[in-house]
Amino acid sequence: MNKHDFDLIVIGGGSGGVRAARMAAQRGARVALAERLGGAGLGGTCVNVGCIPKKLYSYAAHYAEAFEESHGFGWEGQAPVLNWAALKANRAREITRLNGIYGNLLTGAGVTVFNAFARLDGPQSVMLKVDGEAAEQRLTAQHILVATGGTPHLPDIEGREHVIDSNAIFDLEPFPQRLLVVGGGYIACEFASIFNGLGAQVTQLYRGEQVLRGFDDEIRHFVAGEMGRAGVDLRLGADVASITKTDAGLRVRLKDGGEVMADAVLYATGRVPLVAGLGLQAAGVAQRKDGAVVVDEHYQTNVPSIYAVGDVTSRVQLTPVALGEAMVVVDQLFGPQAGKPERRMSYEFIPTAVFTHPSIGTVGYGEAQARELYGEVTIFRSEFKALKHTLSGSSERTLMKLVVETKTDRVVGLHMVGAEAGEIVQGFAVAMKAGATKALFDSTIGIHPTAAEEFVTMREPVKSPAKS
Ligand code: FAD
Ligand code: NDP
Repeated sequence: MNKHDFDLIVIGGGSGGVRAARMAAQRGARVALAERLGGAGLGGTCVNVGCIPKKLYSYAAHYAEAFEESHGFGWEGQAPVLNWAALKANRAREITRLNGIYGNLLTGAGVTVFNAFARLDGPQSVMLKVDGEAAEQRLTAQHILVATGGTPHLPDIEGREHVIDSNAIFDLEPFPQRLLVVGGGYIACEFASIFNGLGAQVTQLYRGEQVLRGFDDEIRHFVAGEMGRAGVDLRLGADVASITKTDAGLRVRLKDGGEVMADAVLYATGRVPLVAGLGLQAAGVAQRKDGAVVVDEHYQTNVPSIYAVGDVTSRVQLTPVALGEAMVVVDQLFGPQAGKPERRMSYEFIPTAVFTHPSIGTVGYGEAQARELYGEVTIFRSEFKALKHTLSGSSERTLMKLVVETKTDRVVGLHMVGAEAGEIVQGFAVAMKAGATKALFDSTIGIHPTAAEEFVTMREPVKSPAKS
């Protein structure tokens, strides 16, 4: 007789939770998954209000420049106009389809899915609360995985009630002719680019000296310049003092005395772990000051039966990272896939893309970071106008950069700003994880004519290293 109702209870049906539940069930474990938003929440942030709808809107925004640029290639006629309602409806339909697929994947693998809010009720027990029902249901399991993700964090500003976060931007009504974006991270930069492309007049405020802190400095400056050329009014060293609603729109007063009028104000000022009501304290699970669940290298909390992965641990907030962590936990608890070694997760050389226009693709260390870590580094850099833009009329430029550890010749940083940067950098990330040297890059034949070939044809190092 089984002592517990399940072998594993997963709290949260997002990237990490769904992957863990599905994989564990496929290994024969008895698995339950609770998702507070029900079937409409399956897939979590990424599917519902993150990566997927964001990328769909980014594609939508790219059409504007594509129509404009087509004239240089002989296409004639007026550019079509955006039907915002149609875009929103088509996105919503696709997301609902994905929710269904996630549901089928889970039930098909044998996972019992509960449309319920879950809270910890002890080291091996969880209470489930279905919306509208008074009574809670108690379930027990050998192991519990917390995968509740994160939620937007807005600072306390005067007029906070007038602003929206990234969850609300997807269904904004009406389309904001004037959008003010606050923040300088991934979300702020991506939505500034997207809404600029969709036709809004976009102002972006960032409190620091340059957006995208943590990325290679040259890449940050370059992308900021390109976003500006594309039409985003990026103001650095700027912050909001107060926001008031007027007949002419939202009046945003800045700390330097300036003022911006907007139809909508998007705050993209970071995300915090989603742990409200989760019962972590009562269960004795250690948390950081920001609420993040503390885990060791096995994703185990200080309560041995409770594990946590993904954004709720507030480490690297990316979907593929949550997926990777989930698979490591499943291998540990239920054994690896037949014939495969137990999975491990490495946080070095995680590739990432920022879907700005133009986009950033990056893997490894920025120049300044690499200097600190490795001492002497050699920099290779190429800036050019992509072949397409010789006829398109666009002044957009592409930047590619390699950071090489001089002593070993190993490529330790690879960065790009330009079209399809994420698509290009993904393949190079494999080479970098394999420890590829610059000599190996040099011996690789390029694919012509592409932008990507530039990464294997940069021969001359930058003479005096760019100052960060
Ligand atoms: P989530 O996907 O957030 O899932 C957590 C789930 O748990 C949610 O469905 C939530 O409803 C549920 N839940 C929470 N509490 C409870 C509870 N008590 N009981 C039951 N259910 C609960 N990453 C990328 O890699 N690429 C991108 O392009 C990208 N774009 C993004 C764009 C935006 C606008 C945002 C906000 C994020 C983006 N991310 C992107 C980040 C990515 O979405 C997250 O890193 C990823 O979703 C984290 O997965 P997770 O499983 O930890 O949590
Ligand atoms: P980030 O942490 O990336 O950026 C937050 C931004 O808000 C920073 O520029 C920060 O400034 C600024 N900020 C913080 N607090 C304040 C404040 N009180 N007033 C003004 N500005 C403030 O968070 P995001 O919300 O952009 O995204 C969260 C995470 O989601 C990302 O880090 C990423 O991991 C993930 N994501 C990934 C995407 C992708 O893979 N393409 C896309 C979108 C999100 P400062 O730098 O000065 O601290």
